[in-house]
This record gives sequence, C-alpha cells and structure tokens, in this order.
Amino acid sequence: MIAYQAIIDELYSKINQEENLGQVAQYIPELARIDPNYFGVYFSAVEGESYGIGDWQRNFSIQSISKVLTLSIAYRLLGDTIWKRVGVEPSGSAFNSLIQLETDKGIPRNPMINGGAMVICDMLLRELKNPMEEILQFIRKMTLNNQIDYSDAVFQSEKLVGYRNIALCNFIKSYGNIENSPEEVLDFYFKMCSIEMNCQELTQVFSYLVNSNVTNAAGEQILSLSQAKRVNAIMQTCGFYDESGEFSFKVGLPGKSGVGGGIIAVHPNKYSIAVWSPKLNAKGNSYRGMKFLEQFTTKTELSIF
Ligand code: GLU
Repeated sequence: MIAYQAIIDELYSKINQEENLGQVAQYIPELARIDPNYFGVYFSAVEGESYGIGDWQRNFSIQSISKVLTLSIAYRLLGDTIWKRVGVEPSGSAFNSLIQLETDKGIPRNPMINGGAMVICDMLLRELKNPMEEILQFIRKMTLNNQIDYSDAVFQSEKLVGYRNIALCNFIKSYGNIENSPEEVLDFYFKMCSIEMNCQELTQVFSYLVNSNVTNAAGEQILSLSQAKRVNAIMQTCGFYDESGEFSFKVGLPGKSGVGGGIIAVHPNKYSIAVWSPKLNAKGNSYRGMKFLEQFTTKTELSIF
C-alpha cells in the first residue's frame, strides 16, 4: 500500500515553505487580482482513497483545462471526423502562437492550443443548440454540484483584452476552418475558459479519463476505452503548452494545465490528482503545481512509464 496521504502532507508542507516563484497570469486583468499564495491539492484513487490539503475547496478559474472537456464532448458526438480539422501533434510553441497556423493552412496542430480549442468550439456550436449549457451540465452531473458555472467577470475581462485570441480565430476563419462567426466562437471559447471549480471537483470531472467505464448521469459511457486512451495521449503530448515534453519527462502522467494555475493529472486505472497554485512559470504552468507533481510521482514511484 502506498501512503498517499503521508506523501501529500510531506510534499505540501515542504513546497509551501519554499520560495513561490513565478507570476500570476497578467494578461487577463481579472486573473491578475488573485492572491498568489493559494495552494490546494486533491487526490482521488480508483480504489476509493481520496484526500485534500490546503485550498482544495476554493474555486478557481480552470482556463485551458476546459479544452479537454470540449474535446471529449466533440469526440463523443462526432468521432474521428474531428481530426480532419485539428491535428494531434505537439506544437512546441506557445498556446496562443499564430506562427504555425500559416504553414499549416489554418489546421491547428492540436486541440490543447487556443486555435485548436476554437475549432472544437466551432464544431460544438454547429452540433449543439447551447454548447455552453451542455458543458456546464456535464460538469454539474459529474460533480453533483449544480452551482458550478463560469465567472462572468473573468469572461468579460478575457473578452476585453482578447486581441490575440480574436486574431487567431479570424486567421483560422480566413482558411475556412471556422464555420460560425468568430464572435460566436470566441464568446463560447472565453466562457468555457472562465469556468470555475475546486480541486476536488476537477478530479471528479476527470474521472472518465481515469476509468473509461465511468458513466454520465444518464448511465451512458462518456468516451469509449479507445477514445479515452486518445484523449489521454493528447494530454500527455500537448497538455502543457511548450513545456509538455518537460512535464512528461519529469512527471510522467497525462495532464492539462491552465493559466489560472490549475493542473489536473490522471493515472489511468489508478488515480487523478488536481493541484492549484496561481503563480505560473515562464511557460505558463503553475510553478508549485509542476514541482508538486514531479515530486509526487517520484515519491509514489507511480507514473505511466
Ligand atoms: N483563456 C486563456 C487564453 O485563451 C486560456 C489560456 C490557458 O489557460 O492556457 O488566453
């Protein structure tokens, strides 16, 4: 038996005492106001053990972590046709980079970078009457918390300064890979990035990637085993912007980060773990989150490799 709780306690208190480097996300004014000292962890094992420490019950902006959820909903609805409009290759460049899109003729490298997530949003706008409501319902049912919502303040704030995202969406539209109006796509994109929840809820939502037999409230499987494997593979190779290789190298788990300072990581068939600490390193990933997870998989000797 691995002493998860003792390892989490030890690492949490150690990292909490060390210098907290980095900066909270500055480019979204509403996110820049967050207290940089928050630090929460929640661990949930398939075998039933779960444990939280620090600020695990406090809501935070999940930002790009939501890209995994929209991808999963689109994959479930549309199957492999989605790969005609978005790739599965790590980009090796920043989440909001425009450079590759020109050479790739408007087909974003993967669904974890902003352009790729916008193309997925565009697919969902076509398939669903109210995709934002759909994603919220999905989250609410997985967490049994009907209060989960997006933050209008963060949404408005992102929209106000979203120059680069607006450029990205219009650029992709110019290649014909966005069908709806860029305004509609961007509104949905910014709203999904502004969803808030806590570390425990994040592990609950991601349970379908730990165990693909997990069902939604209607008793339906969310993704097939093969689809869950592929979504995990994309998180593994593309989930941490241009630090995805480093995360894979140091932590060895599929995961996804967001500029709100959250990270979710899953060990298929074993556990999921969410860490939240708002200060980001130079690549846009939570400084303490990266540190915690690296040491967690080292101490538990449990990674997928
Ligand atoms: N809403 C953020 C943006 O588009 C998401 C960034 C992120 O978490 O990676 O800039």
